[in-house]
Order: sequence, then structure tokens, then C-alpha cells
Amino acid sequence: MMNPQPSSNIEPVALLDVGRGNQPLRDEVLSAIAEVYDSGRFLFGPAVSELEQAVAETCNTKTAVGCASGSDALLLALMANDIGPGDEVIVPSFTFFATASCVTRVGAKLVFVDIDPQTYNLSPEAVANAITPRTRAIIPVHLFGQSAAMDEITRLAEGKGISVIEDAAQAIGAAYHGRPVGSWGQCGCISFYPTKNLGGIGDGGMLSTNSESFADRVRLCASHGMRPRYYHSIVGINSRLDTIQATALVIKMRHLNRYSQMRRDNAQRYMQMFQEAGIVSESADGVQLPYQDPAALHVWNQFSLRVGGGQRDALREHLSQQKIGSEIYYPIPLHQQECYADLGYGAGSLPETERAAKEILHLPIYPELTEQEQTRVVAAVAAYYGANSISSAA
Ligand SMILES: *Cc1c(COP(=O)(O)O)cnc(C)c1O
Repeated sequence: MMNPQPSSNIEPVALLDVGRGNQPLRDEVLSAIAEVYDSGRFLFGPAVSELEQAVAETCNTKTAVGCASGSDALLLALMANDIGPGDEVIVPSFTFFATASCVTRVGAKLVFVDIDPQTYNLSPEAVANAITPRTRAIIPVHLFGQSAAMDEITRLAEGKGISVIEDAAQAIGAAYHGRPVGSWGQCGCISFYPTKNLGGIGDGGMLSTNSESFADRVRLCASHGMRPRYYHSIVGINSRLDTIQATALVIKMRHLNRYSQMRRDNAQRYMQMFQEAGIVSESADGVQLPYQDPAALHVWNQFSLRVGGGQRDALREHLSQQKIGSEIYYPIPLHQQECYADLGYGAGSLPETERAAKEILHLPIYPELTEQEQTRVVAAVAAYYGANSISSAA
């Protein structure tokens, strides 16, 4: 490429540095964990219900149920609905694997549908066309922190015995038309994986719901279907959020609104910087900024560029040479994964999903990213396109 060799003294810009968020809370978290250690209440400690309450408040739902991961939250949601063989579940293919694998796990049929090319979220029109009498659930994903079109999707499900299970793994704190994600559907599935907007110090997950009876069913499914002790009415799994995780998360949760605002500020700064650098274009061959749905309160788990003209991988290589972290979420759509080859979705079956997988590129956006680092990122992208107007800022 035309790039000069990176000088060895340029500071790397990491895609994500969880340490910057965790370090200021270190003493507070460690002393709270020490209390858990001394208490011996490693499971079902008070921090678990405290976190459940805090998440329910954020989602504006009646209740929430902790579990071991976001993946388990999705699986438990299907189990609690008794979804299984003969049932169909509509999911996007442009998402993390866990959105779909839960459907396979319960033995139901995956129905992949295409996305809206602007938001990358489930296309309501595609969902409408995929609904059959066997459809039991729809799993919209609030991808990259922006809510799917929940008004339309919930309307499509209404009165048909179809549960809407929100995959809110990347979107805690987001909203649509002012209503928090996790409160639109029957439940919201949240992940505390360390890279998520509310990241733990290990794995963790939660379901938000307005239905006490559904929450109770989820708790039963998450505890081997055991009630009372050693009496099993159904075959469940073991999925718990442990007290140490909840303890760290309760502390971080107090800062969630601030973290979300920092992500939004970073996103707006990128938008302005990219516009000023003069490399954004409406053309399909150029660079397009992420689309913001005016109805959505975005929490920016990821900031994505759409890089047309077949330039995505070369641009990413250029950024890597400049020591700038980037990632592709997701390079292979789920309908094209080897494990789902037998479902028979050929190349071209979900055109917008396949195009997004070829064109999307994600840049650092985490809350503590500095303006100076963002300047470097934008300058490096600009330099790739030969727009040297601001590259001197590097
Ligand atoms: C992270 C993620 C999950 C799974 O969450 P884990 O806590 O890692 O199991 C599910 N869906 C989406 C969209 C995710 O990004």
C-alpha cells in the first residue's frame, strides 16, 4: 500500500481498553468482593437481587432474573416459552451466534430473515413475510446498541401467540420512542460479557420482563426445573449469576448512564470529524457513517463504518499498520456458517446481510476513548483515502 511504515513510537489506539473503565472503581469493587468472600454467600447473595432490581429499573420492567450469560438468557427465554421441535423462531442472521444457537439448542426451526440496510437491525417487512402458523417467537437484536423497530415488530407478533424476545445483549440503557429496550417484548436478554456496555469481570446475564409468572418460569428453568428441592417437574439447566459478578456489576451499574453518554459523545464527535475530513459520501463506493434512527436512543456498543468499493479489508489493514484497533462484527453471517449449511440458505438468500458482512468495519468507541485518539483514528482513515486535510493531526 501507499502507507508509510508506521514509526515505532506511535501510540496504539486500542479497540477497547476495559482497564480504563475498571481502574477508577478498583478499590470499591475489591473491598465489596472481599465482603462476599468473607460472607461465604457465593450464590444468591444480596447483590444478585440488588442488581436484578437495578436492571429492572433501567429497563422499566417489573422484574429481572439473573443468569450465567447473555447466551443463557436467550436459551432460558425459549425454554420458558416451551418452544421446541415443530416450532419456528424468526431471527436475524447478521448478529452474534448466540441469537440463533439457542433456537437450535431447543430443537426448534431457525428462520433467518434479512436486515434493514441502514440500521442493520431486523427488517419488519422481512419478518412479516416470514411469519407462518408455526412461528412461536421473534428475536430482534438491538445491534451495536441501537434498538430495532420494536413498534412494528411487536405489532406483527400481536394476537398471533408469538413471543417477542429482545436480544438486548449490546443495548442495556437504549430506548425506542422513549421506551427502554427490554420492556417492549415478553422479555429482554442482557449480557454482562466484559465488552458489553455494562461489562462484568467475567460472564453474566439477565432477563428483564414485565411478567412475574414468566420470571418465575425462567427461574424454574434456570434451576434444573427443581421445586421444591430434589423434585423436578421439568428438565431445566443450571444457570446462575454469582454473587461476585453481581457485586462488581452493582457498582458499575451506578455509572451506566454516564458511560452511555460518553459513548454518545464519542459517536457525535466521530460524526463531526468524519464530515470535516471530507471522506464521507452517499455513494455506495465510499465511506458511510452509521445511521441513527430518530426514534432510537442509541447507546453505541459499537461504531461502524460502511466501507464500499471493496476497500474494507485494505482499510482495516492500513489501520492495523497505524496501530489502530478495529474489528468486523460480523464477517460471516449466521446463515452461511458451516454448522448451518444444512438449513439450505444459499449465497444471495439474504442480500443485505451478506453485503453488510462484506462492508462493515468497527472502530474504537468505548467511553474513555480520548478526543486525541479519535483524531488519530479519523486521520488514519482520511490518509487511506488520500484526503490529507487533517492527517497532520496525527
Ligand atoms: C454478547 C452477545 C450475546 C451473548 O452474550 P454472552 O453473555 O456472551 O453469552 C448474545 N447476543 C448478542 C447480540 C451479543 O452481542
